Amino acid sequence: MAEQWIVGVDLGGTTTKLAFINMNGEILHKWEIPTDNSNEGQNITTNISNTIDQKLVELKEQKSKLIGIGMGAPGPINYETGVVLNVVNLGWKDNFPLQESLHSLTELPVVIENDANCAALGEMWNGAGKGARDLVCVTLGTGVGGGVIANGNIVRGINGAAGEIGHITSIPFGGAPCNCGKSGCLETIASATGIVRLAENELPKAEAKGQLAVIFAENGKVTAKDVFDSARNGDELAKKLLDEVAFHLGFVLANIANTVNPEMIVLGGGVSRAGDILLDSVKVNFSMFAFSAARDSTNLALATLGNDAGVIGAAWLIKNKLNL
Ligand SMILES: [Zn+2]
Repeated sequence: MAEQWIVGVDLGGTTTKLAFINMNGEILHKWEIPTDNSNEGQNITTNISNTIDQKLVELKEQKSKLIGIGMGAPGPINYETGVVLNVVNLGWKDNFPLQESLHSLTELPVVIENDANCAALGEMWNGAGKGARDLVCVTLGTGVGGGVIANGNIVRGINGAAGEIGHITSIPFGGAPCNCGKSGCLETIASATGIVRLAENELPKAEAKGQLAVIFAENGKVTAKDVFDSARNGDELAKKLLDEVAFHLGFVLANIANTVNPEMIVLGGGVSRAGDILLDSVKVNFSMFAFSAARDSTNLALATLGNDAGVIGAAWLIKNKLNL
Protein backbone atom coordinates (compact mmCIF):
# COMPACT_ATOMS: atom_id res chain seq x y z
CA MET A 1 0.00 0.00 0.00
CA ALA A 2 1.22 3.47 -0.85
CA GLU A 3 2.40 5.56 2.07
CA GLN A 4 -0.35 7.50 3.77
CA TRP A 5 -0.05 10.88 5.39
CA ILE A 6 -1.42 12.49 8.52
CA VAL A 7 -2.24 16.20 8.62
CA GLY A 8 -0.81 17.96 11.67
CA VAL A 9 -2.28 21.38 12.50
CA ASP A 10 -1.02 23.80 15.13
CA LEU A 11 -3.56 26.56 15.58
CA GLY A 12 -2.09 29.77 16.96
CA GLY A 13 -3.59 33.20 17.58
CA THR A 14 -1.94 34.76 14.52
CA THR A 15 -0.61 31.84 12.46
CA THR A 16 -1.84 28.33 11.73
CA LYS A 17 0.95 25.85 11.00
CA LEU A 18 0.17 22.76 8.93
CA ALA A 19 2.18 19.73 7.83
CA PHE A 20 1.82 16.41 6.04
CA ILE A 21 3.54 13.85 8.22
CA ASN A 22 4.37 10.18 7.65
CA MET A 23 3.91 7.28 10.06
CA ASN A 24 7.40 7.76 11.46
CA GLY A 25 6.62 11.27 12.64
CA GLU A 26 8.65 12.91 9.88
CA ILE A 27 7.47 16.11 8.21
CA LEU A 28 7.17 15.74 4.43
CA HIS A 29 5.63 19.12 3.62
CA LYS A 30 4.95 22.03 5.91
CA TRP A 31 3.42 25.43 5.43
CA GLU A 32 1.46 28.06 7.32
CA ILE A 33 -1.50 30.38 6.83
CA PRO A 34 -2.61 33.43 8.79
CA THR A 35 -5.28 32.66 11.40
CA ASP A 36 -8.39 34.64 10.45
CA ASN A 37 -10.01 35.65 13.75
CA SER A 38 -12.70 37.78 12.12
CA ASN A 39 -16.40 36.81 12.01
CA GLU A 40 -16.10 35.30 15.52
CA GLY A 41 -13.59 32.76 14.26
CA GLN A 42 -16.07 31.18 11.86
CA ASN A 43 -13.52 31.18 8.97
CA ILE A 44 -10.80 29.26 10.82
CA THR A 45 -11.88 25.71 9.99
CA THR A 46 -12.97 26.64 6.44
CA ASN A 47 -9.53 28.10 5.78
CA ILE A 48 -7.81 24.99 7.16
CA SER A 49 -9.93 22.71 4.97
CA ASN A 50 -9.29 24.85 1.88
CA THR A 51 -5.52 25.11 2.37
CA ILE A 52 -5.25 21.32 2.76
CA ASP A 53 -7.13 20.84 -0.55
CA GLN A 54 -4.95 23.44 -2.28
CA LYS A 55 -1.75 21.82 -1.02
CA LEU A 56 -2.90 18.42 -2.34
CA VAL A 57 -3.54 19.93 -5.78
CA GLU A 58 -0.13 21.59 -5.69
CA LEU A 59 1.53 18.27 -4.84
CA LYS A 60 -0.65 16.37 -7.36
CA GLU A 61 -1.93 14.05 -4.63
CA GLN A 62 -5.43 12.69 -3.99
CA LYS A 63 -7.33 13.28 -0.78
CA SER A 64 -7.26 9.52 -0.18
CA LYS A 65 -3.59 9.96 0.68
CA LEU A 66 -4.70 11.53 3.98
CA ILE A 67 -5.92 9.42 6.87
CA GLY A 68 -6.84 12.09 9.39
CA ILE A 69 -6.21 15.46 10.95
CA GLY A 70 -4.66 15.98 14.36
CA MET A 71 -4.91 19.50 15.68
CA GLY A 72 -3.48 21.43 18.58
CA ALA A 73 -5.51 24.38 19.83
CA PRO A 74 -4.89 26.89 22.59
CA GLY A 75 -7.12 26.86 25.60
CA PRO A 76 -9.28 24.38 27.43
CA ILE A 77 -10.93 21.59 25.46
CA ASN A 78 -13.78 19.24 26.25
CA TYR A 79 -12.25 16.00 25.03
CA GLU A 80 -15.51 14.08 24.91
CA THR A 81 -17.16 16.48 22.52
CA GLY A 82 -14.17 18.08 20.77
CA VAL A 83 -15.43 21.50 21.78
CA VAL A 84 -12.99 24.34 22.47
CA LEU A 85 -14.11 26.39 25.42
CA ASN A 86 -13.93 30.16 25.19
CA VAL A 87 -10.71 31.10 23.42
CA VAL A 88 -11.16 34.82 23.05
CA ASN A 89 -8.06 35.54 20.97
CA LEU A 90 -9.33 33.25 18.21
CA GLY A 91 -12.67 35.02 18.12
CA TRP A 92 -14.48 31.98 19.56
CA LYS A 93 -16.59 33.67 22.21
CA ASP A 94 -18.72 30.69 23.09
CA ASN A 95 -17.86 27.03 23.06
CA PHE A 96 -16.79 26.22 19.50
CA PRO A 97 -17.35 22.71 18.07
CA LEU A 98 -13.89 22.55 16.50
CA GLN A 99 -13.70 18.81 15.94
CA GLU A 100 -17.17 18.52 14.40
CA SER A 101 -16.68 21.60 12.21
CA LEU A 102 -13.37 20.42 10.77
CA HIS A 103 -14.63 16.87 10.33
CA SER A 104 -17.72 17.94 8.42
CA LEU A 105 -15.67 20.17 6.11
CA THR A 106 -12.91 17.66 5.37
CA GLU A 107 -14.70 14.30 5.85
CA LEU A 108 -11.56 13.10 7.64
CA PRO A 109 -11.19 11.82 11.21
CA VAL A 110 -10.22 14.75 13.43
CA VAL A 111 -8.66 14.67 16.90
CA ILE A 112 -7.99 17.82 18.87
CA GLU A 113 -5.75 18.43 21.85
CA ASN A 114 -4.38 21.32 23.86
CA ASP A 115 -1.37 22.81 22.04
CA ALA A 116 1.11 22.45 24.91
CA ASN A 117 0.18 18.76 25.13
CA CYS A 118 0.78 18.42 21.38
CA ALA A 119 4.30 19.82 21.80
CA ALA A 120 4.96 17.21 24.49
CA LEU A 121 3.62 14.41 22.28
CA GLY A 122 5.77 15.64 19.38
CA GLU A 123 8.94 15.56 21.47
CA MET A 124 7.96 12.09 22.71
CA TRP A 125 7.32 10.72 19.21
CA ASN A 126 10.24 12.10 17.28
CA GLY A 127 12.16 14.64 19.37
CA ALA A 128 14.30 14.88 22.49
CA GLY A 129 12.11 12.33 24.28
CA LYS A 130 12.01 9.77 21.47
CA GLY A 131 11.26 6.37 22.92
CA ALA A 132 10.33 7.68 26.39
CA ARG A 133 6.89 6.67 27.70
CA ASP A 134 7.04 8.98 30.72
CA LEU A 135 7.88 12.51 29.82
CA VAL A 136 7.18 16.08 30.90
CA CYS A 137 7.54 18.92 28.43
CA VAL A 138 7.71 22.57 29.47
CA THR A 139 7.27 25.17 26.75
CA LEU A 140 8.94 28.45 27.70
CA GLY A 141 7.46 30.98 25.31
CA THR A 142 5.45 34.17 25.77
CA GLY A 143 3.86 32.16 28.57
CA VAL A 144 4.82 28.81 30.08
CA GLY A 145 2.94 25.72 28.88
CA GLY A 146 3.26 22.17 30.08
CA GLY A 147 2.42 18.64 29.03
CA VAL A 148 2.69 15.56 31.23
CA ILE A 149 2.79 12.14 29.58
CA ALA A 150 2.51 9.02 31.74
CA ASN A 151 2.89 5.61 30.13
CA GLY A 152 2.44 7.19 26.69
CA ASN A 153 -0.77 9.05 27.53
CA ILE A 154 -1.37 12.72 28.25
CA VAL A 155 -2.38 13.31 31.87
CA ARG A 156 -5.47 15.52 31.75
CA GLY A 157 -6.95 15.46 35.23
CA ILE A 158 -10.59 15.67 36.20
CA ASN A 159 -11.15 19.06 34.55
CA GLY A 160 -8.44 19.10 31.86
CA ALA A 161 -6.20 21.30 34.01
CA ALA A 162 -3.33 18.84 34.53
CA GLY A 163 0.04 19.92 33.22
CA GLU A 164 -0.51 23.65 33.81
CA ILE A 165 3.10 23.91 34.87
CA GLY A 166 3.22 27.63 34.10
CA HIS A 167 0.76 28.26 36.91
CA ILE A 168 2.57 26.33 39.60
CA THR A 169 3.23 28.87 42.34
CA SER A 170 6.93 29.50 42.62
CA ILE A 171 6.77 32.64 44.76
CA PRO A 172 4.09 32.12 47.42
CA PHE A 173 4.03 35.72 48.67
CA GLY A 174 4.82 38.96 46.91
CA GLY A 175 5.17 37.53 43.40
CA ALA A 176 4.14 39.38 40.25
CA PRO A 177 0.53 39.10 39.06
CA CYS A 178 -0.09 36.41 36.43
CA ASN A 179 -2.59 36.45 33.53
CA CYS A 180 -4.45 33.62 35.28
CA GLY A 181 -5.43 35.87 38.20
CA LYS A 182 -2.96 34.43 40.73
CA SER A 183 0.42 35.87 41.65
CA GLY A 184 3.88 34.34 41.72
CA CYS A 185 3.24 31.68 39.06
CA LEU A 186 6.30 30.16 37.32
CA GLU A 187 5.10 31.90 34.15
CA THR A 188 5.71 35.32 35.71
CA ILE A 189 9.43 34.44 35.89
CA ALA A 190 10.42 31.79 33.36
CA SER A 191 8.52 33.03 30.28
CA ALA A 192 10.05 35.48 27.81
CA THR A 193 7.68 38.08 29.24
CA GLY A 194 8.76 37.23 32.79
CA ILE A 195 12.46 37.44 31.98
CA VAL A 196 12.00 40.86 30.39
CA ARG A 197 10.03 41.99 33.43
CA LEU A 198 12.80 40.85 35.80
CA ALA A 199 15.40 42.63 33.67
CA GLU A 200 13.46 45.84 33.39
CA ASN A 201 12.99 45.93 37.17
CA GLU A 202 16.75 45.96 37.63
CA LEU A 203 18.02 47.97 34.67
CA PRO A 204 16.75 51.45 35.62
CA LYS A 205 18.70 51.24 38.88
CA ALA A 206 21.71 53.52 38.95
CA GLU A 207 24.20 50.75 39.65
CA ALA A 208 23.20 48.81 36.51
CA LYS A 209 26.12 48.51 34.13
CA GLY A 210 27.47 46.10 31.52
CA GLN A 211 26.27 44.84 28.13
CA LEU A 212 22.61 44.48 29.09
CA ALA A 213 22.55 47.96 30.60
CA VAL A 214 24.03 49.37 27.38
CA ILE A 215 21.33 47.67 25.28
CA PHE A 216 18.68 49.03 27.62
CA ALA A 217 20.14 52.55 27.48
CA GLU A 218 20.17 52.44 23.67
CA ASN A 219 16.75 50.85 23.04
CA GLY A 220 14.81 51.65 26.18
CA LYS A 221 13.95 47.94 26.42
CA VAL A 222 15.56 44.48 26.31
CA THR A 223 14.46 41.05 25.08
CA ALA A 224 14.87 37.66 26.76
CA LYS A 225 17.42 36.88 24.06
CA ASP A 226 19.42 40.00 25.05
CA VAL A 227 19.53 38.66 28.62
CA PHE A 228 20.87 35.25 27.56
CA ASP A 229 23.33 36.68 25.03
CA SER A 230 24.68 39.09 27.64
CA ALA A 231 24.96 36.30 30.22
CA ARG A 232 26.95 34.24 27.74
CA ASN A 233 29.31 37.19 27.36
CA GLY A 234 29.85 37.32 31.10
CA ASP A 235 27.54 40.25 31.93
CA GLU A 236 27.05 40.12 35.72
CA LEU A 237 23.50 41.45 35.84
CA ALA A 238 22.37 39.12 33.04
CA LYS A 239 23.96 36.16 34.84
CA LYS A 240 22.13 37.12 38.04
CA LEU A 241 18.81 37.24 36.17
CA LEU A 242 19.53 33.91 34.52
CA ASP A 243 20.30 32.38 37.93
CA GLU A 244 16.97 33.62 39.22
CA VAL A 245 15.07 32.09 36.29
CA ALA A 246 17.00 28.81 36.57
CA PHE A 247 16.38 28.67 40.33
CA HIS A 248 12.61 28.81 39.91
CA LEU A 249 12.62 26.40 36.97
CA GLY A 250 14.84 23.96 38.84
CA PHE A 251 12.69 24.22 41.94
CA VAL A 252 9.41 23.60 40.11
CA LEU A 253 10.79 20.85 37.86
CA ALA A 254 12.31 19.03 40.85
CA ASN A 255 8.91 18.95 42.51
CA ILE A 256 7.34 17.67 39.30
CA ALA A 257 10.01 14.95 39.15
CA ASN A 258 9.24 14.08 42.77
CA THR A 259 5.59 13.69 41.81
CA VAL A 260 5.73 11.77 38.52
CA ASN A 261 9.42 10.74 38.14
CA PRO A 262 9.44 11.00 34.33
CA GLU A 263 12.25 9.54 32.23
CA MET A 264 12.78 12.99 30.74
CA ILE A 265 11.87 16.60 31.26
CA VAL A 266 12.16 18.48 27.98
CA LEU A 267 12.52 22.26 27.85
CA GLY A 268 11.12 23.80 24.68
CA GLY A 269 9.83 27.15 23.41
CA GLY A 270 11.69 30.31 22.45
CA VAL A 271 13.36 30.78 25.83
CA SER A 272 14.91 27.30 25.61
CA ARG A 273 16.97 28.57 22.65
CA ALA A 274 19.18 30.09 25.33
CA GLY A 275 20.63 26.57 25.22
CA ASP A 276 23.15 25.06 27.61
CA ILE A 277 23.68 28.25 29.59
CA LEU A 278 20.08 27.87 30.79
CA LEU A 279 19.92 24.06 30.89
CA ASP A 280 23.11 23.66 32.94
CA SER A 281 21.94 26.15 35.54
CA VAL A 282 18.47 24.56 35.74
CA LYS A 283 20.13 21.17 36.28
CA VAL A 284 22.13 22.48 39.25
CA ASN A 285 18.98 23.82 40.92
CA PHE A 286 17.01 20.72 39.97
CA SER A 287 19.57 18.51 41.72
CA MET A 288 19.31 20.63 44.83
CA PHE A 289 15.54 20.15 45.18
CA ALA A 290 14.87 16.70 43.69
CA PHE A 291 14.43 13.62 45.85
CA SER A 292 17.48 11.41 45.30
CA ALA A 293 15.71 8.57 43.43
CA ALA A 294 14.07 11.10 41.09
CA ARG A 295 17.26 13.14 40.71
CA ASP A 296 19.23 10.07 39.66
CA SER A 297 16.71 8.85 37.09
CA THR A 298 15.01 11.89 35.53
CA ASN A 299 17.02 13.56 32.78
CA LEU A 300 16.64 17.17 31.68
CA ALA A 301 17.13 18.00 28.01
CA LEU A 302 16.46 20.73 25.48
CA ALA A 303 13.69 20.17 22.93
CA THR A 304 14.91 19.28 19.45
CA LEU A 305 11.86 19.89 17.25
CA GLY A 306 11.55 23.65 17.72
CA ASN A 307 8.36 25.04 16.21
CA ASP A 308 7.59 21.70 14.54
CA ALA A 309 6.79 19.92 17.82
CA GLY A 310 3.14 21.02 17.73
CA VAL A 311 2.28 19.68 14.26
CA ILE A 312 4.19 16.43 14.85
CA GLY A 313 2.45 15.84 18.19
CA ALA A 314 -0.92 16.69 16.61
CA ALA A 315 -0.29 14.07 13.92
CA TRP A 316 0.57 11.52 16.61
CA LEU A 317 -2.99 11.89 17.93
CA ILE A 318 -4.33 10.35 14.71
CA LYS A 319 -1.73 7.58 14.66
CA ASN A 320 -2.68 6.76 18.25
CA LYS A 321 -6.47 7.01 17.70
CA LEU A 322 -6.42 4.78 14.63
CA ASN A 323 -3.95 2.35 16.26
CA LEU A 324 -1.48 2.60 13.37
ZN1 LIG B 1 -0.74 31.89 36.61
